[in-house]
Amino acid sequence: MQIAKDTVVQFKYIITDLDGVELENNRDDEAVAYLHGHSNMMPGVSAALEGKAVGDRFSVELEPAQTYGEIQPDAEQRIPMKHLQDAQGTKKWKAGMTAVVNTDNGQREVTVVKVGKFMVTVNLNHPMAGKTLNFDLEVVDVRQATSEEIEHGHAHGAGGHHH
Ligand SMILES: [Zn+2]
Repeated sequence: MQIAKDTVVQFKYIITDLDGVELENNRDDEAVAYLHGHSNMMPGVSAALEGKAVGDRFSVELEPAQTYGEIQPDAEQRIPMKHLQDAQGTKKWKAGMTAVVNTDNGQREVTVVKVGKFMVTVNLNHPMAGKTLNFDLEVVDVRQATSEEIEHGHAHGAGGHHH
């Protein structure tokens, strides 16, 4: 089955910058699952996967506008430290660390700029914003979405929404 609108796709990825430095991957984690054609995947990745099938593995170079966006100026904000979530499990915040915050638009990855006693200044730009990136993508599963998934606009089950 080929990736098309209303299919649920699972894929593995390795993101590298243009110097070949690896920035992120899900090699040892669960594959990412998403409902294709419903604008809930980065547009560049979604377009690259269109028409691909299980077992396809390829690389594609994507501009910031197609992935994490351009760097926005004035994106610094002071927030209560307790609102920061830490993927690495450390309790001590330092400038340069990345954190996750919950916003009205879902979870967002931010970079810590300055740490106070109770408040932290964060930069809301995604750590990979403004970078042209290379995506190594491998399709591990493609299936027809259920009518419930299409109605919800997202994938259920492994790698998708659980609710
Ligand atoms: Zn749902």
